[in-house]
Amino acid sequence: MPIYAYRCAECGFSKDVLQKISDAPLTACPSCGKPAFQKQITAAGFQLKGTGWYVTDFRGGSSSSGGGSSEQSAKTGASSD
Ligand SMILES: [Zn+2]
Repeated sequence: MPIYAYRCAECGFSKDVLQKISDAPLTACPSCGKPAFQKQITAAGFQLKGTGWYVTDFRGGSSSSGGGSSEQSAKTGASSD
């Protein structure tokens, strides 16, 4: 018997339901009681394969201490009679 993943569209309650193929799909949510219980489409052969990701030793830290002072000179032109 296949297991169907159900999820309620109203309250978000999800549950795996063991059903026969000939069984009628459920509609009533056992959590909130609303007829929003829907069968989810699950890909049965889908697996995530992967050993994860590794972090390379990234050295990008450059510590340089220096007092850099930049002065900005603003010219204000005032014309008077
Ligand atoms: Zn619900």
